Parts: sequence; structure tokens; C-alpha cells
Amino acid sequence: MIDSELSLPAPGDAQNLSILLFDPDDGYREVVRGMLMQQHEITFDMRETAADDIDGELTKAAPDVVVLGLDLQQSTSMEWLQKIREKEVAPVVILATGGDEQSAVAAMKKGAYDYIPKAYLTLDQLTKSLINAREKWRLLKETEHLQARLQHMAMYDALTETLSRRALIQQLEAEIQRARRHSRQFSILMLDIDHFKKVNDTYGHIAGDAVLRELALTLISTTRRSDYVGRYGGEEFMVLLPETPLDKATLLAEKLRKAVSEMVVHAEGHTVKNTTISLGVAAFEDDPSVESFINRSDQGLYKAKNNGRNQVQHGPFRKG
Ligand code: GH3
Ligand code: MG
Ligand code: MG
Repeated sequence: MIDSELSLPAPGDAQNLSILLFDPDDGYREVVRGMLMQQHEITFDMRETAADDIDGELTKAAPDVVVLGLDLQQSTSMEWLQKIREKEVAPVVILATGGDEQSAVAAMKKGAYDYIPKAYLTLDQLTKSLINAREKWRLLKETEHLQARLQHMAMYDALTETLSRRALIQQLEAEIQRARRHSRQFSILMLDIDHFKKVNDTYGHIAGDAVLRELALTLISTTRRSDYVGRYGGEEFMVLLPETPLDKATLLAEKLRKAVSEMVVHAEGHTVKNTTISLGVAAFEDDPSVESFINRSDQGLYKAKNNGRNQVQHGPFRKG
């Protein structure tokens, strides 16, 4: 039993708690219902079931808490608990008969939020346990949500929703390993918008952002689902092309260059057209490090810029 630090709600501090009460014993459900009706500070919105159809009941609507009456000596008890836990919709408080300390521990390990022997059940105990379970569940869900958001923020660039630089490098490392292990062809593209500073200076930063977003969409829609598009920094993007040799990667780079040059972006009352990009291509050649591989595509990009921009160049082949 959890020795809750939560106090009961103060009178007038109305609360509503929805409960799904599951107990094969009709009489005991009656007892719990009668007990909870005496708790005037909280309104209980209660559904009951005696049947095995926990799945169905949980799918209909998720309660705040599942109250599960179990005889822990019965082998099916833990299966019911397991079923509810797998649904991941609500915390479970167990009202138990027939068990000992060991079975209580087993129930908690299986993910029950609290365990009260039926013999010791009081209204106060039950109410605290229900409120506590709901609060713990809420905190858990909030934490999970925050973790997922943090993970998303680390993985994706906020402006373009393409992969972040960090995620790109991670994926690049994984692809290099794969290419090495299975002797697979693998290429990368590095690209950079030409004279992008002029776009910002002429149309403003917000219009510049809109061009970056449109560029990202163009890159994604022109590449395959199995390719990876990411923002390497500023107005520089990288595309990873698994299973792709240099000639195919160069053709794709041309296709991207053309698609970008056809982009028409409306933003801030302006129309931005004729965006051009320079691209550097490199195929993996058992480069000794991620950096040296990236560096070779960068050299292609540098060559494209120096050669007059709006073009594709491939990086030097690795020497030695
Ligand atoms: P080059 O052809 O040599 O690449 O010229 P450039 O003007 O594109 O290159 P430069 O590196 O001088 O300028 C890059 C510009 O990209 C400057 C910077 O303000 C802009 N930029 C970088 N990140 C963002 C962004 O997130 N939003 C906007 N609007 N602009 C950005
Ligand atoms: Mg640029
Ligand atoms: Mg740049």
C-alpha cells in the first residue's frame, strides 16, 4: 500500500475520477461501489465489468484508474494485469485476496500502481490510492511526452523539419558501417544556396526562411524515401544516398539543381524565384573517417562555387 503524501481534496474542491472496476465477484464490486459513494469530495464516474472483456472495456474509453479485484492465488490474475498494462491506457490499483507479500511484489513488478488487501480496505485508503495512481500516471505521461519532444528536437531541424546535423552524422556513420560490411555503394551530396545573403537582404529574413523551408520540401520530394535529407547548417544541406554509386548520385544532384531553380516562393508579399544551388557529390571509397568523406563532398561544393555556382561537381577521388 502506498503511504500517500497526497491529502484528500478539501471540501468544495470538487474532483471527478473515472474508474473502471473489474472484479469477477459481483458482491465485492457492490462493496467497492457502496464505499466510494460515501466519498462526497469526489464524484466517481464508475463503470463495472465482471467479464473477461477487459480489452473491450478499455478500448471503449480510457478511465483515470482501473481498479482490479484479484484473487492472487488464481493463475489468471496476473494475465489480467498483464493485459491491462499492455494496453497502456490507465494505471492499475489492485484489490487483492488470497495473496501473500510475494504475490504483492509480483503484482507491483508487473506494473500495478498500488496494492491493497481487500481485508484492509478503507474508504480513505482507497481514495488516496486512486488519486495517487492518477497523479503518478499523469506525471509519467507528461515525462514521456517531454522526452519525445526533446528527442525530436535533437533529431530534427526546427525550421525545415529535415534531419539535424547531429542526426545526419549519426546516420552517416551507420551507413558507412553498412557500406563497409556489405561492400555497398554509397554517396553523399552537399549543397548550398547561391548568394543567399542577397535573398535575405532583398526580401528579408522571414522570406529567406520561407525559401529554406521550400528548398527542404523540394529536396525531400525529389529524393527517395530511403534517402536522408538534413540541414548541415545555415543554408547548407546534406543528402545521404544509400546504395547509390557516383554516376547515379550526380544525376540526382542535377535533378535537384533543376527542381530548385523552378521553385517559386511567395512570402512577405514578395515572390522569390530563380533560386540556384551549388552541389558537391562524393561516393564512399573506404574513407578513413566520416570527416574525410564529408570533406571530399565539400571539396566538390567548393569547386562548384568557384566555377561559377549553379552546378554540380564531384569531390576528388581518394588518393592512395
Ligand atoms: P554563396 O553563393 O557563396 O554561398 O553566397 P551566400 O550569400 O549564400 O553565402 P554566405 O555564407 O555569405 O551567406 C549565407 C547566408 O545564409 C547568410 C545568412 O544570413 C543566411 N542564413 C543562414 N541561416 C539562415 C536562416 O536560418 N534563415 C535565413 N533567412 N537566412 C539564413
Ligand atoms: Mg550560400
Ligand atoms: Mg553557406
